[in-house]
Amino acid sequence: MLFTVACSRSNAPSVPVSPRPRPSTNGQAVVLISLDGFRWDYLDRPAAINLRRLSQQGVHALRMVPSFPSITFPNHYTIVTGLYPEHHGIIDNTMRDSALGWFRMSDTAAVRNAAWWGGEPIWVTAEKQGRHAGAFFWPGSEAAIEGVRPSRWMTFNDRFPNAPRVDSVLAWLTLPDSQAMSMITLYYSDVDHAGHAAGPDSPQVDSAIARVDSMIGRLMDGIAARGLGGRVNVIVVADHGMTDTAPDRVVFLDDYISLNDVDIVSSGAIGALTPKPGKLDEVYRKLKDANPHIAAYRKGEVPARLHYNDNPRITPIVLLADEGWIITTHAQFAVRKLLGGEHGYDNQLSSMGALFVARGPAFREGFTMLPFQNIHIYDLICRIMALTPAPNDGSLDSTRAMLRQ
Ligand SMILES: [Zn+2]
Repeated sequence: MLFTVACSRSNAPSVPVSPRPRPSTNGQAVVLISLDGFRWDYLDRPAAINLRRLSQQGVHALRMVPSFPSITFPNHYTIVTGLYPEHHGIIDNTMRDSALGWFRMSDTAAVRNAAWWGGEPIWVTAEKQGRHAGAFFWPGSEAAIEGVRPSRWMTFNDRFPNAPRVDSVLAWLTLPDSQAMSMITLYYSDVDHAGHAAGPDSPQVDSAIARVDSMIGRLMDGIAARGLGGRVNVIVVADHGMTDTAPDRVVFLDDYISLNDVDIVSSGAIGALTPKPGKLDEVYRKLKDANPHIAAYRKGEVPARLHYNDNPRITPIVLLADEGWIITTHAQFAVRKLLGGEHGYDNQLSSMGALFVARGPAFREGFTMLPFQNIHIYDLICRIMALTPAPNDGSLDSTRAMLRQ
């Protein structure tokens, strides 16, 4: 379909042709790896041996700024679409839509329902323009978005062992010409889990860094051994960072409002509340100045820099906790007392900053980028693969400096 559009445009005699990437393949491939919860400064932890080598041989950012809220599904989907969560519709890990009902990460039917997923993820862009894409897990990759799935995709299974994920990616890169994949995603949750359980400074996080770092080494070794170094670009990102919480930094909603007056759609670093009919003003008034460690916003009044207003799935009241504080209820807290690390806070906080490291034929060597936002990754990948990007919130201007000219 896109080929037709591109041809008819370039054949129109009176329209000046602006420089655009050619729709045919340039031979470049991208492997996009997410290390969930890998904060930018974990790169300096002793176990990050292969990642540091990758950054020295290629490019790394001082910090990649996530989108708000700094949580997993919204940011994974922002990275692959270039859209703010308010524009792609995955505004939280848990959310409710008036027509679709509830969305939860563990709900396979919801996760596979394309109606939740707005925008155009990079694998759809690639497939529509004649490339083959593969996903060894990524939020959204199980849904037929715009009717298109990656040529190969996997049902999410966090217990799937780490090494065979890399080996599958290497196999996908070396399929016969007509099937070879040129856009592949790969995902590891180890570092996020350890950060939640024990906090960012824990030895558990060091062990998790060692496990995922060894997978980066396995991938780089495999690429070199197969002679793919001249066409495969590896981009390693995280969705968000992590910060410590503490038992004395907790805000209990039921200290301020009656829980009968609201549905709590999600809670943690942010609180998403839908008041019962007629209760909006009362609930907002009670929460507005309730506690100095939470900010309460009515829908549409969240600060513009957070880009968290323009979507029907955003609840009528949005609460945002100070760094390291948790929004919960007494009942929830009784069940989940153990507090380690958390994320979801203001995306400009240093502690919410994510990893960005990349190496390959498209990238400069030994280059350090200033912090940039994750909405720009989609355009970056499109440029590397000579794909025409779908409309999005990002721009190549923010990442062009890291590319070889
Ligand atoms: Zn995450």
